[in-house]
Amino acid sequence: MPGMPLRDDRVVRYVSAYCPHCHHEQPERPLSEVRRLAGYLSADAEGRVWLVRGCPDHGMVRTLYDESATILSYLEEWTAPTKRHTPDLFGNFDAVPQVYLRGLGELQTQHTCILLEDIELGCNLCCPNCFASSSPDLRGVVPVAAVLANIDARIARENGRIDVLMISGGEPTIHPQLIDLLDAIMERPIVRILINTNGIELARNDRLLAYLQRHRKRIEVLPAIRRL
Ligand SMILES: [Zn+2]
Repeated sequence: MPGMPLRDDRVVRYVSAYCPHCHHEQPERPLSEVRRLAGYLSADAEGRVWLVRGCPDHGMVRTLYDESATILSYLEEWTAPTKRHTPDLFGNFDAVPQVYLRGLGELQTQHTCILLEDIELGCNLCCPNCFASSSPDLRGVVPVAAVLANIDARIARENGRIDVLMISGGEPTIHPQLIDLLDAIMERPIVRILINTNGIELARNDRLLAYLQRHRKRIEVLPAIRRL
Protein backbone atom coordinates (compact mmCIF):
# COMPACT_ATOMS: atom_id res chain seq x y z
CA MET A 1 0.00 0.00 0.00
CA PRO A 2 1.40 3.42 -0.92
CA GLY A 3 0.15 5.15 2.29
CA MET A 4 -0.70 8.82 2.38
CA PRO A 5 0.97 11.23 -0.04
CA LEU A 6 3.16 14.01 1.31
CA ARG A 7 1.87 17.56 1.32
CA ASP A 8 3.67 19.93 -1.03
CA ASP A 9 3.65 22.77 1.51
CA ARG A 10 5.05 23.26 4.99
CA VAL A 11 2.90 24.69 7.81
CA VAL A 12 4.68 27.67 9.39
CA ARG A 13 2.18 28.23 12.21
CA TYR A 14 -1.50 28.04 13.09
CA VAL A 15 -3.48 31.29 13.19
CA SER A 16 -7.04 32.55 13.29
CA ALA A 17 -8.22 34.82 10.48
CA TYR A 18 -11.20 36.39 8.70
CA CYS A 19 -12.64 35.43 5.33
CA PRO A 20 -12.20 38.24 2.74
CA HIS A 21 -15.25 37.06 0.74
CA CYS A 22 -17.50 37.25 3.81
CA HIS A 23 -16.13 40.75 4.44
CA HIS A 24 -16.86 41.96 0.89
CA GLU A 25 -20.44 40.72 1.16
CA GLN A 26 -21.11 42.78 4.28
CA PRO A 27 -18.27 45.30 4.80
CA GLU A 28 -20.20 47.35 7.40
CA ARG A 29 -20.98 44.42 9.71
CA PRO A 30 -19.71 44.93 13.28
CA LEU A 31 -16.50 43.00 13.93
CA SER A 32 -18.11 41.18 16.85
CA GLU A 33 -20.43 39.49 14.32
CA VAL A 34 -17.69 38.47 11.89
CA ARG A 35 -16.61 34.84 12.21
CA ARG A 36 -13.04 34.15 13.20
CA LEU A 37 -11.82 31.15 11.29
CA ALA A 38 -9.19 28.55 12.01
CA GLY A 39 -6.26 28.70 9.61
CA TYR A 40 -2.54 28.42 9.11
CA LEU A 41 0.40 30.01 7.34
CA SER A 42 1.84 27.69 4.74
CA ALA A 43 5.14 27.93 2.84
CA ASP A 44 5.03 26.58 -0.72
CA ALA A 45 7.85 25.01 -2.75
CA GLU A 46 8.83 28.45 -4.14
CA GLY A 47 9.21 29.80 -0.61
CA ARG A 48 6.12 32.02 -0.66
CA VAL A 49 3.92 32.06 2.45
CA TRP A 50 0.14 31.75 2.11
CA LEU A 51 -2.59 32.47 4.66
CA VAL A 52 -5.06 29.59 4.44
CA ARG A 53 -8.37 29.52 6.35
CA GLY A 54 -11.53 27.51 6.07
CA CYS A 55 -14.84 29.38 5.70
CA PRO A 56 -18.15 27.47 6.09
CA ASP A 57 -19.60 29.51 3.16
CA HIS A 58 -16.59 29.94 0.88
CA GLY A 59 -14.48 26.86 1.56
CA MET A 60 -10.69 27.04 1.73
CA VAL A 61 -9.58 30.63 1.15
CA ARG A 62 -5.90 31.17 0.33
CA THR A 63 -4.22 34.59 0.07
CA LEU A 64 -0.55 35.57 -0.28
CA TYR A 65 0.89 36.52 3.13
CA ASP A 66 4.59 37.02 2.36
CA GLU A 67 6.66 36.63 -0.79
CA SER A 68 9.53 34.91 1.01
CA ALA A 69 9.46 32.47 3.92
CA THR A 70 13.20 33.12 4.41
CA ILE A 71 12.71 36.87 4.79
CA LEU A 72 9.69 36.27 7.06
CA SER A 73 11.65 34.02 9.42
CA TYR A 74 14.61 36.46 9.36
CA LEU A 75 12.30 39.34 10.33
CA GLU A 76 10.79 37.25 13.10
CA GLU A 77 14.25 36.94 14.69
CA TRP A 78 14.07 40.66 15.48
CA THR A 79 11.88 40.23 18.49
CA ALA A 80 12.42 41.39 22.07
CA PRO A 81 10.67 40.34 25.28
CA THR A 82 7.55 42.40 25.81
CA LYS A 83 6.44 43.76 29.17
CA ARG A 84 3.96 42.36 31.68
CA HIS A 85 0.78 44.33 32.11
CA THR A 86 -2.30 44.20 34.32
CA PRO A 87 -5.60 43.46 32.53
CA ASP A 88 -8.41 45.99 32.88
CA LEU A 89 -10.82 43.18 33.57
CA PHE A 90 -9.84 39.79 34.91
CA GLY A 91 -11.72 36.99 33.16
CA ASN A 92 -11.92 38.92 29.86
CA PHE A 93 -10.81 36.23 27.41
CA ASP A 94 -12.73 37.66 24.41
CA ALA A 95 -11.07 37.30 21.02
CA VAL A 96 -9.30 40.20 19.31
CA PRO A 97 -10.58 42.74 18.32
CA GLN A 98 -13.81 42.75 20.37
CA VAL A 99 -11.76 42.11 23.53
CA TYR A 100 -10.79 45.81 23.44
CA LEU A 101 -14.40 46.88 23.92
CA ARG A 102 -13.76 45.97 27.57
CA GLY A 103 -10.20 47.32 27.78
CA LEU A 104 -7.11 45.12 27.81
CA GLY A 105 -7.90 41.46 28.33
CA GLU A 106 -6.00 38.73 30.13
CA LEU A 107 -4.33 37.47 26.94
CA GLN A 108 -2.93 40.90 26.03
CA THR A 109 0.80 40.61 25.38
CA GLN A 110 1.68 43.96 23.81
CA HIS A 111 2.42 47.19 25.64
CA THR A 112 2.91 50.79 24.47
CA CYS A 113 6.25 50.33 22.76
CA ILE A 114 6.10 53.72 20.98
CA LEU A 115 3.36 56.10 22.07
CA LEU A 116 2.22 58.15 19.06
CA GLU A 117 0.66 61.55 19.72
CA ASP A 118 -0.80 63.40 16.72
CA ILE A 119 -0.90 67.01 17.87
CA GLU A 120 -1.65 68.97 14.69
CA LEU A 121 -4.00 68.25 11.80
CA GLY A 122 -2.54 70.71 9.27
CA CYS A 123 0.78 70.73 7.42
CA ASN A 124 2.96 73.19 5.52
CA LEU A 125 3.20 70.74 2.60
CA CYS A 126 0.55 68.88 0.64
CA CYS A 127 2.28 65.72 -0.55
CA PRO A 128 -0.17 63.62 -2.61
CA ASN A 129 1.07 60.46 -0.93
CA CYS A 130 0.68 61.73 2.67
CA PHE A 131 -0.52 58.80 4.81
CA ALA A 132 -2.14 61.25 7.24
CA SER A 133 -4.04 63.07 4.40
CA SER A 134 -2.74 66.33 5.87
CA SER A 135 -2.38 69.66 4.00
CA PRO A 136 -2.23 73.45 4.49
CA ASP A 137 -6.03 73.58 4.01
CA LEU A 138 -6.60 71.72 7.25
CA ARG A 139 -6.68 73.46 10.61
CA GLY A 140 -6.78 71.74 13.93
CA VAL A 141 -4.56 71.77 16.96
CA VAL A 142 -4.78 69.43 19.92
CA PRO A 143 -4.62 71.55 23.11
CA VAL A 144 -1.46 70.98 25.20
CA ALA A 145 -3.55 69.89 28.20
CA ALA A 146 -5.29 67.23 26.14
CA VAL A 147 -2.00 65.83 24.80
CA LEU A 148 -0.54 65.73 28.31
CA ALA A 149 -3.65 64.09 29.77
CA ASN A 150 -3.35 61.33 27.21
CA ILE A 151 0.38 60.91 27.85
CA ASP A 152 -0.20 60.78 31.62
CA ALA A 153 -2.85 58.10 31.19
CA ARG A 154 -0.40 56.02 29.17
CA ILE A 155 2.42 56.56 31.67
CA ALA A 156 0.12 55.31 34.45
CA ARG A 157 -0.82 52.34 32.31
CA GLU A 158 2.86 51.52 31.68
CA ASN A 159 3.59 51.54 35.40
CA GLY A 160 5.33 54.91 35.48
CA ARG A 161 7.52 55.01 32.40
CA ILE A 162 7.20 55.36 28.63
CA ASP A 163 10.23 54.30 26.58
CA VAL A 164 9.52 56.23 23.38
CA LEU A 165 7.05 58.99 22.58
CA MET A 166 6.61 60.02 18.95
CA ILE A 167 5.05 63.40 18.23
CA SER A 168 3.45 63.61 14.83
CA GLY A 169 0.44 64.98 12.96
CA GLY A 170 0.02 66.60 10.37
CA GLU A 171 3.18 68.57 10.81
CA PRO A 172 3.82 68.83 14.57
CA THR A 173 6.33 71.71 14.36
CA ILE A 174 3.59 74.17 13.28
CA HIS A 175 1.70 73.55 16.54
CA PRO A 176 1.72 77.04 18.17
CA GLN A 177 2.58 75.71 21.66
CA LEU A 178 5.09 73.06 20.63
CA ILE A 179 7.88 74.29 22.91
CA ASP A 180 5.54 74.55 25.93
CA LEU A 181 4.40 71.03 25.18
CA LEU A 182 7.97 69.71 24.89
CA ASP A 183 8.92 71.43 28.17
CA ALA A 184 6.07 69.62 29.91
CA ILE A 185 6.86 66.31 28.22
CA MET A 186 10.50 66.47 29.33
CA GLU A 187 9.41 66.76 32.97
CA ARG A 188 7.79 63.35 32.61
CA PRO A 189 9.32 59.85 32.83
CA ILE A 190 9.77 59.39 29.09
CA VAL A 191 13.13 58.08 27.91
CA ARG A 192 13.20 59.32 24.32
CA ILE A 193 11.08 61.77 22.37
CA LEU A 194 10.84 61.68 18.57
CA ILE A 195 9.48 64.52 16.43
CA ASN A 196 8.21 63.32 13.08
CA THR A 197 8.73 66.38 10.82
CA ASN A 198 9.25 67.47 7.22
CA GLY A 199 11.85 69.97 8.54
CA ILE A 200 10.47 73.11 6.84
CA GLU A 201 9.69 74.87 10.12
CA LEU A 202 13.15 73.96 11.47
CA ALA A 203 14.71 75.80 8.52
CA ARG A 204 12.62 78.91 9.29
CA ASN A 205 12.34 78.97 13.07
CA ASP A 206 15.69 79.62 14.76
CA ARG A 207 14.17 79.52 18.24
CA LEU A 208 12.77 76.04 17.67
CA LEU A 209 16.03 74.86 16.08
CA ALA A 210 18.08 76.14 19.04
CA TYR A 211 15.66 74.50 21.46
CA LEU A 212 15.95 71.13 19.72
CA GLN A 213 19.73 71.44 19.60
CA ARG A 214 19.81 72.17 23.35
CA HIS A 215 17.76 69.05 24.09
CA ARG A 216 19.22 66.78 21.43
CA LYS A 217 20.18 64.06 23.94
CA ARG A 218 16.51 63.46 24.63
CA ILE A 219 14.64 64.75 21.59
CA GLU A 220 15.32 63.19 18.22
CA VAL A 221 14.23 64.80 14.96
CA LEU A 222 12.87 62.16 12.61
CA PRO A 223 12.80 63.29 8.94
CA ALA A 224 9.38 62.55 7.49
CA ILE A 225 9.57 63.83 3.93
CA ARG A 226 7.45 61.63 1.69
CA ARG A 227 9.28 61.55 -1.64
CA LEU A 228 7.25 61.75 -4.83
ZN1 LIG B 1 -16.45 33.38 3.83
